[in-house]
This record gives sequence, C-alpha cells and structure tokens, in this order.
Amino acid sequence: MSKKIEQWIRPEIRALSAYHVPDPGDLIKLDAMENPYHWPESMVDEWLETLRGIGLNRYPDPGARGLKERLRAVMQVPEGQDIILGNGSDELIQILAMAVAGPARTVLAPEPSFVMYRMIATFAGLDYAGVALHESDFALDLDAMLAAIEAHEPALVFLAYPNNPTGNLWNRDAIEALVERSPGLVVIDEAYAPFAADSFMGDLGRYDNLLVMRTVSKMGLAGLRLGLLCGPAAWLQEFEKIRLPYNINVLTQASAEFALTHEALFDEQAAAIRRDREQLFAELQKLDGVQTYPSEANFILFRVKGRAGEVFEALKAGGVLIKNLSDAGGALADCLRVTVGTPEENARFVAVLRAALVD
Ligand code: PMP
Repeated sequence: MSKKIEQWIRPEIRALSAYHVPDPGDLIKLDAMENPYHWPESMVDEWLETLRGIGLNRYPDPGARGLKERLRAVMQVPEGQDIILGNGSDELIQILAMAVAGPARTVLAPEPSFVMYRMIATFAGLDYAGVALHESDFALDLDAMLAAIEAHEPALVFLAYPNNPTGNLWNRDAIEALVERSPGLVVIDEAYAPFAADSFMGDLGRYDNLLVMRTVSKMGLAGLRLGLLCGPAAWLQEFEKIRLPYNINVLTQASAEFALTHEALFDEQAAAIRRDREQLFAELQKLDGVQTYPSEANFILFRVKGRAGEVFEALKAGGVLIKNLSDAGGALADCLRVTVGTPEENARFVAVLRAALVD
C-alpha cells in the first residue's frame, strides 16, 4: 500500500501533518477559543420548536436567503456588498485558494498567524510566503510586507484582525497601505470581531480588492460550522461557482437564523468575555515569569521562558487544557495560549498556573 500512496499522494500532502485536535476528556476546555456559555432553557425550547418544523428529507436552500438576511443585519454588512457562506470560515479560505490556484501563484500572510492559511495554500497547490511579524510586540512589519508583496505578487493576502494566536489588532494605516499595494485580493479575517475594538466591515467598497471574512464560531456557535465572506458581488460570483451547492445544511441554516434573532444574548456574552479577558490579563501580569501580550480577542497569548511544555502538562494534570504553541518555535517559542472561559474556569486556570510556576 505504501508504494501506491507514494505514487499517488502528492509529496507536499504527504509532508503535512493533519490539524491536530486533542480529546479534552473532562478537562476545562480553554484551548479552542470557544464561547463557554450556553443559552437560557426557554431559548433552547424555542430553538427545538423551530427545528421541529424542518424536513430533513429536503435539500437545504442553496442560497440560504433567510440566514444571509439575518447575517447582513447582525454583522452590519454594508449595503451593496454581497455575502457567500462557508461550512466554517475554514471552507471559505479553501474556496478562495481554489479560485486563484495555479502555477506560480502565491498566498501571503504574516507569521505567526492562523495556520490554515499555509495548510490550505499547500493543499490547493499554491506557493505560500510567510512574513515575520515584529518579534517584540507582534506588530506588522510593513516594510517587509510591502517588499514581499512586490517580490511575490500574491494572488491572496490573509490578514487576521485581530490575529490568532497573538491576539492583537494591527495598525490600520499599515493594513490600508497593504490593500492599496496588493495586486490581488486582501482578505481581512475578522473571526474575533465580537471581542475587538475595530473592523474593516465598514471599509468594504472603498477598495476593489478588499474582502472581509467573519465566522459565528467565536461568538458562541462553533458547533454549527458557519462562516461568511463579504465583499463586491463580482468577486463573490466567481467564488459561488466553486462553493458546493448545499454546503450549509438545513440544521445549521435554521439554528443560526434562530440564534441570530437573539443577538442581544450573544452581545452580552461577548461583553462578559471582554471584561473577563481584562481581569485575566491583569491576573497573568501579576505572575512572576509570565510575559503577557495584550489581546483584542477571546484568548491571551503568554510566554513562560523555557517552561512551556512543563507548564502545559502541569495545567493538564490540574484539569485545564490550553494550547501549547511552543513547538512552532521561532517567535512562539515558550508561548502558550489560553481562551477566556467563565470566571470560575479562569480562576481555576490562574490557580493551577500559579502553583505550576512556583514548583
Ligand atoms: N480565522 C481565524 C483567525 C481563526 O483563528 C479561526 C479558528 N481558529 C478561523 C478563521 C476558522 O474558524 P471557523 O472555521 O470555525 O469559522
């Protein structure tokens, strides 16, 4: 079998490792930027009533019209800009990559950033160029980005705003310069928009190569798998040709449309998470041996010099699962990332961390 695999599976695919998702078991799950809160029982009942009326024997509405209308209102997509939906924003990244893939075509992104940009570029047969962020504060290196844009003429530039895993928003003027100087598309990936003080959604239409991507995952609907890409209709019509017709299933369409009629609940939850992020940040800053990075997202990146593996394991042994980024090396050496949970979960995390650091 292995001979056949070698013969037929492309070498760049064989060289990849699958995106690893650990089994959380009974651990407090602070590894994946999920919203820790559920819904009031009355809302769950109302949702289940909505589902009762759905026929699973029929294909979903391929245009997801009702859902798109809700999303347009909730996400404040500007008038005149269009929306395409993905099975998570992951799928939208894949659609974008497939649409531009070809020999000597490049995807460019700052690094460290969301690992799927590189992985999906690789599956789609695109070249990938990563441009290092400034090491001290993970700011964009504008000169290096402009030089890389000139050198590679990328078909696609991905800018996560706020960035994962660093948590920061980059300088707006620098991003605008990149949009102006990019020959291809620039996708601002606003997965963490509910927790951030700025957005490019209102800038759609100012440039002919700007797209804004969002997801409902971080606001509290990660299980539904729903992302959206917003921008000029002319671009999105091309991507629609690649999107599989029924990529957003009936349960997701109905559940998301229902959930988004309860926008106030999600706004309250996001506000609580933002508040708790500031508290958690302050707690982390008090700990000796921990270097914290300011965050506009629902997670915090921190560094424990020379001890990331040991601290990660101690947290796990103490019942808390976070993300160890240290193995990525480079600017992320010694770095760990914790998702903001409930106040009780955050307190537990800090207590176990504090104990691990004095050991
Ligand atoms: N963009 C960024 C920056 C992310 O961090 C993530 C998930 N971690 C995604 C996109 C993908 O989100 P989803 O597929 O759940 O919409």
